[in-house]
Amino acid sequence: MFPLLKYTAEEVDEYYAKVTPEMVKSSLAKDRHDWFDLLNLVSPAAYPFMDEMRRKARLARIKYYGKTVSVYAPLYIGNTCVNHCRYCDFRREHTGTVRRNLTLDEIRLEAEAIRASGIDNLLIVAGEDPKVNSVEHFCDVARLLKPMFSNLSLEVAPQSEEGYRAMFEAGFESLTCFQETYDQEQYKYFHPAGPKSNYEWRLWTQLRAGKAGFRILGCAFLLGLTPWRREAASLAAHALYLMKECYESKVQFAFPRFCRVEGGFVPPCEVDERDVDLMMLAFRICFPQCCMTVSTREAPKFRDYIVQVAADNMSAGSRVTPGGYAVLEKEHAADVAQFTLTDRRPPKEVYAAIKANGQEVVFKNWDNRI
Ligand code: SF4
Repeated sequence: MFPLLKYTAEEVDEYYAKVTPEMVKSSLAKDRHDWFDLLNLVSPAAYPFMDEMRRKARLARIKYYGKTVSVYAPLYIGNTCVNHCRYCDFRREHTGTVRRNLTLDEIRLEAEAIRASGIDNLLIVAGEDPKVNSVEHFCDVARLLKPMFSNLSLEVAPQSEEGYRAMFEAGFESLTCFQETYDQEQYKYFHPAGPKSNYEWRLWTQLRAGKAGFRILGCAFLLGLTPWRREAASLAAHALYLMKECYESKVQFAFPRFCRVEGGFVPPCEVDERDVDLMMLAFRICFPQCCMTVSTREAPKFRDYIVQVAADNMSAGSRVTPGGYAVLEKEHAADVAQFTLTDRRPPKEVYAAIKANGQEVVFKNWDNRI
């Protein structure tokens, strides 16, 4: 569990089992919600109230984000990695993966292809390889891309507060770091070696980034590794902590889910779409002001629905391979993705679906150059 929580996993399980329909109704009737309300709304007792939750979440979403959906694209700049995450094909010992780190010229080529699709909000993703992907390198990447995009985000290995300060000054403003699991024992099992095996270093990533000035602090666990309701309780506690400690930043939630693929990692605690739905509705109701993104691992139909009631931003036309937008095509090389994409629609189709649902596509909602 999130280490500052005073409840054990077993106590949280016991609480979930005792939630009654009256407790769910009472949480739904409130205007301000606390940690226990979140637990009530993700408990099994909340299933019969999902229509009511949808109505409430939609109102909360409109109040803070209007009828708009922000779009972004991830740019994978490298997939060499010194870690051993049991569930990832980029892990060090996985020999079946073609490894590649893009040069600055290749990064520019990729970025131009993304920019041509209208995207103005870019997420830089890389494996953990300190020799290649150093703070200095990320700063060079930021300086290269800042003139092209109004917002640059990071999803890379945790850095020191000093490192984040340098990257913030170079142009990055948002950060995402999935804790994967808040269960310390399971964390050890899934991350047996490498820098990522340090649970605490990863856990306080957002805190260090927030202190360094980062505007958006993204938090998540990986749905499928452990029982999701315990993780949801920890995620909520983590978010409440960050909202207090880094009150000038905004917390962003993501709910990345393992979808089983032939011959791939088999998640021990699979989560179905109804539970993802329930969780996203509950987090939108209890954390109405926070950002929320919907993963490209979800099906197009679900993504188009959830951005109307809970999530406020989504990726469009994602490629999860270094070079996947332009470089590989130029070289006629094969795609080697980190995970399987379920939504493979090109950006234009994603924009059209957003508009068809009466929402507006937002390419830019922030620009620190102004
Ligand atoms: S999940 Fe990230 S850190 Fe772990 S092996 Fe994959 S790329 Fe490396």
